[in-house]
Order: sequence, then C-alpha cells, then structure tokens
Amino acid sequence: MQITGVTQHHLERSLEEPFYPTWIPGYPQATHELELFEVETDAGITGYGASPSFAGGLDYGTELELFLTGEDPHNVGGILGKLETIDLVGPRPWHVETALWDIIGKDAGKPVYELLGAERRAIPVYASTGELMDVDERIEYVEERVAEGFEAVKLRVTELDHLDVVRRVREAFPELTLMVDANKGWAVRVMEEPIEWSYADALEFARGLEEIGGVAWLEEPLHRHDYEGYARLRDAVDVNIAGGEFNNGVHHFREFVEHGSLDVLQPDAALATGIRGAVDVARTAERRGLQFVPHTWTNAVGFAANLHVMTAVGSPWCEYPMEPPWTPDVWSFMLEGGFEHDDGTIQAPDAPGLGIEVDETLLTEG
Ligand SMILES: [Mg+2]
Repeated sequence: MQITGVTQHHLERSLEEPFYPTWIPGYPQATHELELFEVETDAGITGYGASPSFAGGLDYGTELELFLTGEDPHNVGGILGKLETIDLVGPRPWHVETALWDIIGKDAGKPVYELLGAERRAIPVYASTGELMDVDERIEYVEERVAEGFEAVKLRVTELDHLDVVRRVREAFPELTLMVDANKGWAVRVMEEPIEWSYADALEFARGLEEIGGVAWLEEPLHRHDYEGYARLRDAVDVNIAGGEFNNGVHHFREFVEHGSLDVLQPDAALATGIRGAVDVARTAERRGLQFVPHTWTNAVGFAANLHVMTAVGSPWCEYPMEPPWTPDVWSFMLEGGFEHDDGTIQAPDAPGLGIEVDETLLTEG
C-alpha cells in the first residue's frame, strides 16, 4: 500500500458564547478550530489525524504531501523519521501519526486498540473544566456532572487563592474525586501573559491540596521542561504530581521518569507522542509504578486516538472535556456522531481504525 496524498483541511465552528480557557489568558475564544489531516492511499483507505488550530491556522499540506507520498502507511517508524524533518518547520509528527494507525486499522478491519493487543473496556471519565469560575457557579456545575454519573471532576486554577474554590467544592462533595490543573506547563500568549508560579508557590499550593484531601493529582504546577522542579516538588509533598500533556516526544517523558518528576504521566497521543509513543510511555509508567492518564483536550479525532491508547494500556481515568460552551457536540463537530459517556464510563469505538466517521460535508471547501 502507498500513500498517494495528504490533504489538510482547516475546520472551524463558532461557539455559542465566548469561552475563556485558562491556557489562553485573557482571550475570549469564539471558535473551535482544528487542522484535519487526511492521508489518502492507493488502497482507497483514508486515515485521519488532527491538530488544534488558532486564528485561521497555517497550511502544511504541501510539505506533508512531499514527504509522505509513496510511503507505505504501515511503516510507522520510517514515516515518523520523515515527520521529524517536518517537525523542524511545521506541525508536530503526532498530528499525522494517528492517521497512519487509522489506515492500518481500516486495512486490517480492526480497531486500533485491537492492533495494540487489547480488548475493549469501559474507562471511567472525569469531567474536565477549562475556565475559572466562582465557587457558587462551580458547585452548581459539579452538581450537574454528578447527576450525569461523573465520579470525578478536574478544576482549573491559576492563583494560589483558588485553593478556596477547591476547598469549597471538596466540602460540598466529600466523596467526589478531584483533580486540579494549574496549567503552568505552557500557554498560548495572545492577549495576557500567564500567571507563573515559582517553586515556592507550587509547594504552597500542593501543601494546601494535601490538607484539603481527596485530590487525585495536581497537574502542571510548573513549566513543562522544569524536570528538576517537578522532582523536588514530588519529593516534598504527598499529593500526586501530573504533567507532560504538551511535551514533545518520548524522550521528554524519559526525562520526567529519570528525574523522578511525576506520579502521573499525561502524554496526549495527538500532541505529545503519537499513538506508538504514548503506548511506549504507558509501558514505562507500568514498570516504574507510575500512573498513565493522557490529556485528551483537542478535538474528537485526538480524543479517539487517546481513547484507543487508554483502552490498550488500561488507564484509570479518561479526561472528558465538559465546560459549556465547550461541550461534546462542539469538540466533536467534525464527526458524524460523537463521544457520549455512559453513566460515567466510556468505551473506544469498535469500528476499524480510530473508529470515527468524519463529516465529509465539512471537507468540500478546502
Ligand atoms: Mg492539563
């Protein structure tokens, strides 16, 4: 089989109201944008990968076509070498690598998790928020999620005094598992500079969470490359430390592991490692007694890639983005159908490849 072409589509959908994610400080996000990469083959099989996008996106279709045309999509390792070249000037390899698995699965008539040697299984979802919210509104939000069957919620914080929101939610829902994401690993700097934490700030916050209790992890309290800072923090506190969603390549996770930086490794298959690399990181986590809970917050194509990985390696939780206006129908708008959870758990699609069906009416304009 040979790749005959790569087509990049810029897709976007307006949000009903502006969304204020903590990772784009001060910016009212009015649209959900992505770049969809369509990898075509001479077998008539098409695979899909996607990256998050912003402000109309940048076009890499020509470069991808130049490097990938004529390659056998089953040669994931060889193609990753070519994509690494493109990584120097364009998109990360991981956005496109998922499309190869989509093709390989469709060719074999098997879902990706089966190619990775696993059976389908139900994975508990946690409701992942994206905005800061005052306490009363947040408690109302959590009430709705609990009624929907969620047993865990991840709260966003940017400042030390947001400990109070965590404390109040904990008091209102003593049984609920809470995750807390400080989003200090990276930021989209388009409006305001992000609020950064010193090591002392991160330590103070983590100690506050210890006192509150019932917190599954504190995510990205420091910059994504501060491997030593993470290790010091992890040594100093009992609350689990998580990170790695937007690091780049398996070698960054080797740094985390060798420094003893993290309790929870979170590579997003679509952003940080690809599917093959995410499984590699998960196996390392297993050997080292660490948790593996990938980030999933991009779009439904990336979510699908991560869900197959989680199914293959048995992750204890699946991040389920749920912060109106960023609802499942919005993050899945590029698909026919989407990803509904069933009373707090979710299963990977069992159709071949990623098991998703892209809404082809969106692909006509370019
Ligand atoms: Mg995060």
